[in-house]
Amino acid sequence: MPRSLNHRSFDVIVLGAGASGVVAAIAAANLGARTALIERGSAAGGELISGLAILGSSNSRGEWLIGGPAKGLIDRCDKLGGFVGRPFDGRTMWGACVDPEIMKLVVPEALADAGVATYLSATATDVVAHEGSVHGIIVEGRGEPMLLTAAAFVDASGDAFLSQLAGAQFEQGAPDGTLQPMSLTFRAGPVHYQQLLEFVRDNPQEFMLAESDVITKSPAECAADIYASGLPFVCLQAEGEHTLLREAMEHGQMYPTTGIYIYPTSVQRQELGLNTTRVVGVDPFDSEAAGSAMAALSGQVTQVISFLRSTIPGFSDCQVSGVSGRIGIRETRRILGEERLETDDVVEGRKRADVVAKGGHHVDIHGSGRAQQRIHVKGGKSYDIPFGALIPKHVANVMVSGRCFSSSREANGSARHMGSCMAMGQASGTAAALTARQHRANVRELDLSELQQVLRTEGAILDGIA
Ligand SMILES: Cc1cc2nc3c(=O)[nH]c(=O)nc-3n(C[C@H](O)[C@H](O)[C@H](O)COP(=O)(O)OP(=O)(O)OC[C@H]3O[C@@H](n4cnc5c(N)ncnc54)[C@H](O)[C@@H]3O)c2cc1C
Repeated sequence: MPRSLNHRSFDVIVLGAGASGVVAAIAAANLGARTALIERGSAAGGELISGLAILGSSNSRGEWLIGGPAKGLIDRCDKLGGFVGRPFDGRTMWGACVDPEIMKLVVPEALADAGVATYLSATATDVVAHEGSVHGIIVEGRGEPMLLTAAAFVDASGDAFLSQLAGAQFEQGAPDGTLQPMSLTFRAGPVHYQQLLEFVRDNPQEFMLAESDVITKSPAECAADIYASGLPFVCLQAEGEHTLLREAMEHGQMYPTTGIYIYPTSVQRQELGLNTTRVVGVDPFDSEAAGSAMAALSGQVTQVISFLRSTIPGFSDCQVSGVSGRIGIRETRRILGEERLETDDVVEGRKRADVVAKGGHHVDIHGSGRAQQRIHVKGGKSYDIPFGALIPKHVANVMVSGRCFSSSREANGSARHMGSCMAMGQASGTAAALTARQHRANVRELDLSELQQVLRTEGAILDGIA
């Protein structure tokens, strides 16, 4: 017998509470839209609460690219002592480093303060749509299934779940279907920061340094700057012929990987975040394969800790102090939008009249083993993300936000970082709120200059940046 569904109605529904969805929901609610945020996990925040440094939040010159609610989350962390700093890695990136334990408190508070109705452990299983116009989402949680309806939607699911069910087309991975590896990030402490920094200063050849064309210094000078900053934000590299990491791989002490990305997560706890594990060839939509991948990744975490403790100064007393709550998925679907952010747009740092968000991170595509493609944005500039790249073709009232936006694979390899995902979140949430407020059936009917003006008023950074 068919069950009747509980029903609630909103102005805007955001699907997915990763970095992009959280900001989209706050941006929509800040404009007065009755906003729901739906997340199948048990917490909102995605990779924001795993401890990763927020990259793409600045260009390589160090100019901030995010404002408004995205920067607001970092500022809230700062007030609670959870903003570690914004160090430069001596290579290309300024990382906004936060304490993930504080960010775990900040995200729900910021959502509640904005008036967002957050649904956790709530999986969208289907959409109710007609001729490209979405009416509602079926959500299954712990209780009875629900029908949540709205005038406008933001698809921040990472997987373009909502858009593709509503009729959007998508691309996925490389032309041959290859996807970037999945990883499990984790944290370790206590790490003796000073000993590690001295090792960086005295052994620049062990680290990825001086890659961007904005850097006029030698690797040794970059290493000295990192030492002086007091914050270990560096990457142990496997690319050099005789690096310690490369030798550990050759002796079977470490599995093949590009490097060990190191970022500070808490000075008080003497803790560092580590991004280095990887499995390739796993279908991100195969739940059983995800279970096996988790086991393999967990084994790699133990291997990394053992390598660091025995080999790298500062780590000798450390233990695992935190493991991300979920496998990190870098890449799935990219919708086909009205516009597509192209590789050249990113590499040339191209500016556009239809800008609604910015990015600045280099193209970063991880491969199998030690492989990684890195292409820098010329002159350490920023590039503009156009409105049309957030609008899926064939769908009327859905904005796409975050890593599933319309982009070439290389452009996505840049804009998938959290800074630009959050900037897109502000743009998509704002556009959805205006669509609902103005009773428009189609996001394409919005006045672009009005959207840009509202974004600027709400703190988004759209211009004035190299
Ligand atoms: C291992 C790894 C390391 C990285 N390193 C960095 C780094 O150092 N710095 C950086 O800035 N970026 C980094 N990135 C990239 C960045 O973290 C992500 O690309 C970014 O966080 C994506 O955010 P998003 O909101 O677009 O998507 P996601 O974080 O994927 O969020 C989508 C959310 O939607 C939810 N969802 C999906 N489908 C449904 C459904 N049907 N119902 C309900 N909920 C649903 C998911 O549970 C998820 O929480 C890394 C990524 C990975 C995986």
